[in-house]
Amino acid sequence: MVTLKDLTTPVKSNWCPGCGNFGILTAVKGALAELGLEREQVVIVSGIGCHGKIVNYVDVNGFHGIHGRVLPIATGIKLANPELTVIGFAGDADQYDEGWDHFCHALRRNIDLTLIVHDNQILGLTTGQTTATSLQGFKTKSTPFGSVVPPLNPIANALVSNGTFVARGFAGDPRHLQRLIVEAVRHKGLGYIDVFQPCVTFNYLNTYQWFRERLYKLEEKGHDYTDRQKALEKSFEWGNRIPIGIFYKEDRPTYLDALPHLRDKVLAKMPVEDIDITSIMESMK
Ligand code: SF4
Repeated sequence: MVTLKDLTTPVKSNWCPGCGNFGILTAVKGALAELGLEREQVVIVSGIGCHGKIVNYVDVNGFHGIHGRVLPIATGIKLANPELTVIGFAGDADQYDEGWDHFCHALRRNIDLTLIVHDNQILGLTTGQTTATSLQGFKTKSTPFGSVVPPLNPIANALVSNGTFVARGFAGDPRHLQRLIVEAVRHKGLGYIDVFQPCVTFNYLNTYQWFRERLYKLEEKGHDYTDRQKALEKSFEWGNRIPIGIFYKEDRPTYLDALPHLRDKVLAKMPVEDIDITSIMESMK
């Protein structure tokens, strides 16, 4: 079983002091230690953006992928070896812009993995342009007169895509986020968490204080997370009161449950020595 000390790498962080990514990192390490997994059992995958460096800061197997492709890579790893615990980390531009099409399909397939989106509502790595979740009117380098389009609603989209575990956390509350991550990893199916992650360098609007003045916890208000319709209503709450916590959760067979030949025979452990692909290669000449 890993401890917090085991999970810490000697790599010096490149994130700006105060970045919301630190809160997510703390929550992830706490969750892995709480889950009692062995280091070898866990694979983390990241995309492109400031968040992507997280694979360097958690001492488990890591794969730093390309922009928008966290879910295809994480899916491939899980299907090849269902014995692994796979956690994908994406940025808001990474998942909701570049990787948007993968999002709804992974949710409806209910691949048994965890997806954590570092949602800072801006492109931090490229020094401040709008993303799909930037608020309308938000002035950035790419929108000097203010963004003219409304933001995308990832929670509502996850719900209508038949997601089976849909949650939102806040990097400024790592203890609460740790609980969500533990639940998401334990969930059989795709455990999806959108995390408000203040970018202290480029997002002057959605700050820690901005969130603290607005956020409330669904579980403290008796929200019934088994009711998709109620979850949808909650997903549209915005403005002075914004909910975090588990919006919706249901037990439904995973993608691999429907493919027992893949689930029961670990692809990554099958012998390859006797496979002859000569005729296939010949047919392609
Ligand atoms: Fe964090 Fe923003 Fe700095 Fe990137 S630019 S490390 S998101 S504070």
